[in-house]
Amino acid sequence: MENKLQFYNTLTRKVERFIPNTEGKVAMYTCGPTVYHFAHIGNLRSYIMQDVLEKTLRYLGYDVKRVMNITDVGHLASDADTGADKMVEGAKREHKTVMEIAKFYTDAFFSDCARLNLKRPDVVEPATNCIQEFIGVIGKLMENGFAYEGGGNIYFDTSKLKEYYVFSNQNEKDLLVGVRDDVDEDKNKRNKSDFVLWFTKSKFEDQELKWESPWGVGYPGWHIECSCISMKHLGEYMDIHCGGVDNIFPHHTNEIAQSEACLGHKWCNYWFHVHHLTDKSGKMSKSKGDFLTLSLLEKKGYDPKVYRMFCLQSHYRKPLEFSYEVMDNTGAAYDKLVKRVGSLGKEGEINEEKRNAYKEKFAAALCDDLNTSMALTVLYDMLKEDMSDATKYALAESFDQVLSLDLTTAHAAKESAGGVDAELESYVLEKIEERKTAKKAKDFAKADAIRSELMERGIILEDTREGVKWKKA
Ligand code: AMP
Ligand code: ZN
Repeated sequence: MENKLQFYNTLTRKVERFIPNTEGKVAMYTCGPTVYHFAHIGNLRSYIMQDVLEKTLRYLGYDVKRVMNITDVGHLASDADTGADKMVEGAKREHKTVMEIAKFYTDAFFSDCARLNLKRPDVVEPATNCIQEFIGVIGKLMENGFAYEGGGNIYFDTSKLKEYYVFSNQNEKDLLVGVRDDVDEDKNKRNKSDFVLWFTKSKFEDQELKWESPWGVGYPGWHIECSCISMKHLGEYMDIHCGGVDNIFPHHTNEIAQSEACLGHKWCNYWFHVHHLTDKSGKMSKSKGDFLTLSLLEKKGYDPKVYRMFCLQSHYRKPLEFSYEVMDNTGAAYDKLVKRVGSLGKEGEINEEKRNAYKEKFAAALCDDLNTSMALTVLYDMLKEDMSDATKYALAESFDQVLSLDLTTAHAAKESAGGVDAELESYVLEKIEERKTAKKAKDFAKADAIRSELMERGIILEDTREGVKWKKA
């Protein structure tokens, strides 16, 4: 397939044709989760769209190596380097050790990913595995004059760079969000935009994890991990670095500063950023505490693939507002779609010409700055086309290498589960039990509220002599 992939490069602020450093190969890096809590569905939007990018590259025939870090140390609650460590906070909240918290939420993250059909990156590396690599790079930055010691900590000296704010032409004041004058400013820094590479004189004496280093016992800053983990597995040159838009500054800006100061040459050519999922109150964020997880969506009866489709319907470069109404419509569309694909006969002759034409159309939509909603339109058009079932089935299978919606298998799975989603069924049964308990306690308002909640989800309850029965409206 001819490759004309282009996507928006945050570094050049343009949609650009993708040309990797080595022909046919892609070195790709993704900032992984901070494992102090569950991922929210906003984080997962970011990973879904990155999964689509990776699978598009593979669909086009590239040999991709994708690396992801797991942030299990060094992530501060504030970018002013003054807030509490998020991992320590998580451990305190749950009366566990930092490593227990990290293990639990790393597993929870990959379980979410599996339910969303996200491919596991080829390399997944926790930051705590790479302390010696961090020390090596920080040592090099000390040697070449890009880092200095101040009050026991090691800082990156941003004044030594020709250009620090590589991603934007915003002015320094706008960008230094965490370094407001009214906030407890770190007096050890030479420049406001400098950041910590290694802490020894920590304000957080309750740090559980500390390591020996040439500068004293301490722990790394957050940004250094992505520079080092990517270099460890991908070498000195990288093709694509991914993250959410909130990573652009300061995290990715600082990654570039450290990496290029250490390497002495340009490090990564393409920067791919996914815009945020919002709710009515604004950006969804873990630190707000009250956030929507994939498991919660499942409890409410939604299939994770419906959330994946919800994300694919809109462009990764636009903010996306979450709503149950759109999820319900997406759910109905998904059921119809997989039913349609499930009803196709597999046997018969394949029309090669039409198959190739549709594959080209599908690839062209994705090559156009990852236009996933157009790719879905190509799928719908293909299903309407006058051609054999076998051709359509083969195409659905092919498109699903990128869409990963279980197009050819979901309907049969639903049928064998009795025609309803297992998630929906367990949600409804749980609600029926809750309603029974409310009625026993004569809390009829609550019982009615549960019936209404189910009605909103298109579930009708019938009180019969044999007990409560339910059906889809
Ligand atoms: P964290 O676990 O906080 O390090 O975030 C994991 C990833 O999710 C990062 O790449 C963030 O940029 C991204 N992210 C955070 N909030 C959102 C959101 N509301 N929508 C989409 N992506 C997000
Ligand atoms: Zn990172």
